[in-house]
Amino acid sequence: MAQFKMANRTVLISGGGIAGPTLAFWLKAGGFQPTLIEQAPRLRTGGYAIDFWGLGYWIAEKMGLEADINHVGYHVSEMCIVNDSGKRVAGFGTDVFGELTNNRYVTLGRSDLSRLLFEKIKDTTEVLLDNEIIDLDQQADGVRVRLKDGGERAFDLVIGADGLHSGVRRLAFGPQDQFEKKLGYAVAAFEVEGYRPRDEDMYLMYGQPGRMLGRFTMHHNRTLFLFVFAVDRDRLPTALLQQKGMLREKYGDGRWECPRILEELDRARELYFDSVSQIVMNSWSHGRVALVGDAAFCVSLLAGQGSALAMISAYVLAGELLNAGGWHQEAFVRYEAFLRDYIRTKQQGAKRFATALAPRTQLGLLFRNLVTNAFAVPGLARLAIGKEITDAIQLPDYRWPFLST
Ligand SMILES: Cc1cc2nc3c(=O)[nH]c(=O)nc-3n(C[C@H](O)[C@H](O)[C@H](O)COP(=O)(O)OP(=O)(O)OC[C@H]3O[C@@H](n4cnc5c(N)ncnc54)[C@H](O)[C@@H]3O)c2cc1C
Repeated sequence: MAQFKMANRTVLISGGGIAGPTLAFWLKAGGFQPTLIEQAPRLRTGGYAIDFWGLGYWIAEKMGLEADINHVGYHVSEMCIVNDSGKRVAGFGTDVFGELTNNRYVTLGRSDLSRLLFEKIKDTTEVLLDNEIIDLDQQADGVRVRLKDGGERAFDLVIGADGLHSGVRRLAFGPQDQFEKKLGYAVAAFEVEGYRPRDEDMYLMYGQPGRMLGRFTMHHNRTLFLFVFAVDRDRLPTALLQQKGMLREKYGDGRWECPRILEELDRARELYFDSVSQIVMNSWSHGRVALVGDAAFCVSLLAGQGSALAMISAYVLAGELLNAGGWHQEAFVRYEAFLRDYIRTKQQGAKRFATALAPRTQLGLLFRNLVTNAFAVPGLARLAIGKEITDAIQLPDYRWPFLST
C-alpha cells in the first residue's frame, strides 16, 4: 500500500495499561509510528477483575481479540449479596446483561486484558519498559522528552495513557489535585490461591454501612477480594503495611468471612489500593500533548466501564489523527468534541452509583438490597440498567490503511 503523507508521524505513548496498547495498535493501523513507554519493568499481573462489554468489546473484536478475551474471561451468572452468616439476602441473575448486550459481555482480569492488548503490538511497536518521561519540552515542530534512564528523544506528538496518576498530565497540564475529584471512597483488591469456599461464576458481596467486601472465584484456584469503603481523610496510606492496617481497622469487626479474608490479607505481598476518584479537565490536550483513558477522564470503578472508555478514547484519537492527515490541532479538537458529553454522562452515573455499592447507613443497605432484588423481576432490570449499559454513541468506522489483526 502506498505510503501517504502525514503532518505528524512519530508518537510517544506513555502507559502500557489498556488505553496505551490500544492506541499503539490503531495508530499503527493508521500509518503512524508509535513508541510505547511503560513505568513498570514488566507487565503487571493480578490486580482486579473488570466487566467488559459494549463499544470496548466491539473494538477488541476489531482487533481480533474476541476469542481470547472469552477464553481468559468469566461468564458470571449471579450477583449475590450475603449477610453476616453468609446467607443470601439479595441478588439477581445476570441474564439481563447478556440480553442487553447480545451476549457480548465478559468479566476478565484487568491485567489479562492489558496483556492481550500488549501482545497485539509488541512485535510491531517500539516498547520501552521500566522507563518513563521525566520532562517534556514542547517546541514548534515536536516535543523533546527526557527519560528516566537518562535518554533524550524527540517525537512529533506525546500522548499520556498513564492512568489516574498520569505523569504526562502532571508535566503538561499541572499537578494531580487540580483535576482529581475524590468521591469519598477508597478501593483495595488482592488475589490469593487456594481459598475456600469457591463459588464458580458468582460474585458475592457482603456489606456493612460504608463498607463492602466482594469475593470472586477465578481460574487456576485463585480468588479475588475487593474492598470498597467510605473514607473521610484526604490522604490515603501509600505503604503496604499501613494500607493493610487501614483495611484491618475498617473490616476488623466485620462478620461473614471477614476474619479469614483479613488473615489472607496479612500474607498478601501485592495489594491494589487507591482512592475512588474521577479526573475532570477542561481540555484533554495542550499543544502537541494529549491524554486518553483514565489520564484524561477517569470515571472510576463505579462506572464499571473505564476500560472500555479507555479503548474508545484511544480508537477515536487514532482515527481522528488519521482523518486529519496527522494535523494534531484539528484531530485533538475533533477527538474531544466527539467524546466529551458521553464521558460527562458516564462520570455523573458513576457518582450516583457510589451510594449503591457501599451505602453509608443501615437503611441505605436495606434499600440497596431491595432494589437489587427488584433486578430479578423480568423487565425491571432492563428498565433500570438498559440506559446505562447500552452505548449512546456509535463509533466511526475509520478507513484504516494498514489494519492487520
Ligand atoms: C477495582 C476496580 C474495578 C474496576 N472495574 C472495572 C470494570 O468492571 N469495567 C471497566 O471497564 N473498568 C473497570 N475499572 C476501571 C479500569 O480499570 C480503568 O478505567 C482502566 O484500566 C483505564 O485504563 P488506562 O489504560 O487509561 O489506565 P491504566 O489501566 O491505569 O494503565 C495505566 C498504565 O500506565 C502506567 N504508568 C503509570 N504512570 C506512568 C508513567 N509516569 N510513565 C509510564 N507509564 C506509567 C501504569 O503502570 C499502567 O500500566 C475498574 C477499576 C478499579 C480500580
